[in-house]
Amino acid sequence: MSQELTDFGIPDYFEAEALGQPGNRRFRLIAKKGAQTASLWVERADVELLSQAFNQVLVEVGESDTLRVEGETAGPPPQPRGDFPRNPDIELRVGRWAVGYDQANALIIYIATSIESALETTESDEIIPEFRVALPRDTAERFADAAEALVAAGRPRCPLCGTALSYPDEPHACVKQNGHHKAELVIEGDE
Ligand SMILES: [Zn+2]
Repeated sequence: MSQELTDFGIPDYFEAEALGQPGNRRFRLIAKKGAQTASLWVERADVELLSQAFNQVLVEVGESDTLRVEGETAGPPPQPRGDFPRNPDIELRVGRWAVGYDQANALIIYIATSIESALETTESDEIIPEFRVALPRDTAERFADAAEALVAAGRPRCPLCGTALSYPDEPHACVKQNGHHKAELVIEGDE
């Protein structure tokens, strides 16, 4: 294993985006630092888990007073960045990733390693990162909000209150129905 670490430090930006049509979206994380760009292909579940991981760290370090309810902050999904290069300097399919907190510098750390390297790793708990970014807390919070909206955009929604659901028949405590209610749902995408 001889993968080198690309460390973007505090990037110019670090965002999740979805490419393609609803039902067939591909997800990636894009980052820019100076003249360098990176594209990290991930699964939709990774975007969701990463958003949750950032929120969890933010709560643990006291940035957020309350755990946010899923769907509460989900606005319209962010539009793909038009100026991201077609051939970024770094391009990898993420096999494993982890989130940590750099207490001394108050930075939330994201590290990732490629599928190829993840398969080579023998010690199952160890991630030898190939890519790393360090995010100030407000940046991590913005990422989490935008990523949540991005994931929610491809989900079925409750027709009454608009809450994004995990699957079409998911029962939920609908504020418009004052409790649990099962209704016909508007399916926006099925990826
Ligand atoms: Zn509802």
